Amino acid sequence: MNAPDWPARAAALRPDGRALIDGERRRSAGGAVFAKHSPIDGRLLAEVARGGVADIDAAVAAARAAFEDRRWAGKPPAARKKVLQRFADKILAARDELALLETLDMGKPIQYALAVDVPATARTIAWYAEAVDKIYDEIAPTADTALALIAREPVGVVGVIVPWNYPMIMAAWKLGPALAAGNSVVLKPSEKSPLTAMRLAEIALDAGLPPGVFNVVPGYGHEAGEALALHMDVDAIGFTGSTRTGRRMLEYASRSNLKRVFNELGGKSAFVVFDDFAELERAAKTAAGSMFFNQGESCNAPSRVLVHEAIADRFVEIVAAEAPNYAPADPLQPSTVLGALVDDAQLATVLGYIEAGRGDGARLVCGGRRVREDSGGFYVEPTVFDGVANEMKIAREEIFGPVMSVIRFRDEAEAVAIANASNYGLQASVWSDHLSRAHRVARRLRAGTVHVNSYDEDDITVPFGGVKQSGNGRDKSLHAFDKVTELKTTWLRIDAA
Ligand code: NAD
Repeated sequence: MNAPDWPARAAALRPDGRALIDGERRRSAGGAVFAKHSPIDGRLLAEVARGGVADIDAAVAAARAAFEDRRWAGKPPAARKKVLQRFADKILAARDELALLETLDMGKPIQYALAVDVPATARTIAWYAEAVDKIYDEIAPTADTALALIAREPVGVVGVIVPWNYPMIMAAWKLGPALAAGNSVVLKPSEKSPLTAMRLAEIALDAGLPPGVFNVVPGYGHEAGEALALHMDVDAIGFTGSTRTGRRMLEYASRSNLKRVFNELGGKSAFVVFDDFAELERAAKTAAGSMFFNQGESCNAPSRVLVHEAIADRFVEIVAAEAPNYAPADPLQPSTVLGALVDDAQLATVLGYIEAGRGDGARLVCGGRRVREDSGGFYVEPTVFDGVANEMKIAREEIFGPVMSVIRFRDEAEAVAIANASNYGLQASVWSDHLSRAHRVARRLRAGTVHVNSYDEDDITVPFGGVKQSGNGRDKSLHAFDKVTELKTTWLRIDAA
């Protein structure tokens, strides 16, 4: 079979930018739209519904009605499982279309949209589907005079607000547990990558999810996003995005109905390489691969690479030699490994940080420039700075682009101190052949996940989330059910005979 001609397929694609509310595609209440251009070459992809208060009201009302009449929550877990398994199967069946939409919408290479984003989305939905009829509730160890049942109940209407870097996966991490537990959902995708969200909701309907259970309202953060997070009839917000917006989510909750807020926020993850680690080349290549994957637009990118001074020169040499393998290219070509940044604003932000790195005295080892400008898209070379101090702006702030900062350290105590000297605490890694050191450092690093002699190896079975200003929630694993369920106690008195 011939490989798909992605440019031809992209040219033929006519994405539908309308919202999906109560089981049907709808224009925004006032008919407002915004133009969604592709970052790969600037082409117009779709006129997208610009959701506002009225659209969010309609979506929340539909979600509430669906929840209250129990058309979904009232189904036995095994029945919900079947529908969600079909949903996952249909996502896989639509793999090419969804991958192409994701690539055009946010600029990632088509090979990764096909191999990572679509399968991970389907697997997430399938995993929560499979889990939901295997979870038991509890009976408390009370005295004989009572029977106390502790049951999990769905919270009700869950608002989901997600970013643009992994649009489908981030949505699926919230949708999987929320839908499996019986909630209704209103999803607000990023205005920078709205298109796959509506298709996911259509596919869910097609799989048998009742109308009103999964609604999608595209639009801007300060309009649709704010309306959703402020809504008095939304019971919980699952948010993934920047720390700045996460702060707002807490404000919205306090200004409205004190809805539960779960924040999955930014990162500045430390990748710590000791001189007792023998496979230096593997460590350096892993750092480059993880840093440049998804154009560096990953919350858990290892953007602070801490290397022992004795091996730092060699480490930087290997990373610099790797960089040309990550040359930006057309995301629609199957061989491309580094695509376009999401938009011109992100391009300006990344170039601004590169300038700041130079200005603060870091040594630019390679990269640093915008390339492929003629394409009409937004491409930046993989960039490596050496001699970075942890106080510099490029080490403190999240860049969200293909920019690695190498920070040298002298000993273990200094490495731990530098790694922990950050407002963020999403992920970290320690590279050492010394068993006790690996465990010792892993314990001391303040992060939601610490990798040992690896990075970004991941599975739906383990929680994902951060400490400090990286957030408070945990996506993935069975723990994600905690965010979308309430514990209900039913106390039954048992009279003596
Ligand atoms: P962002 O905070 O700008 O936007 C995220 C979402 O919030 C979008 O849907 C946006 O429209 C919405 N939003 C923006 N302003 C809003 C407002 N005032 N009210 C309500 N909603 C609003 O973030 P981004 O640029 O889309 O995404 C990048 C960020 O996401 C990075 O910081 C990255 O680290 C983080 N991220 C975290 C994780 C994680 O699991 N911890 C995963 C992926 C991305």
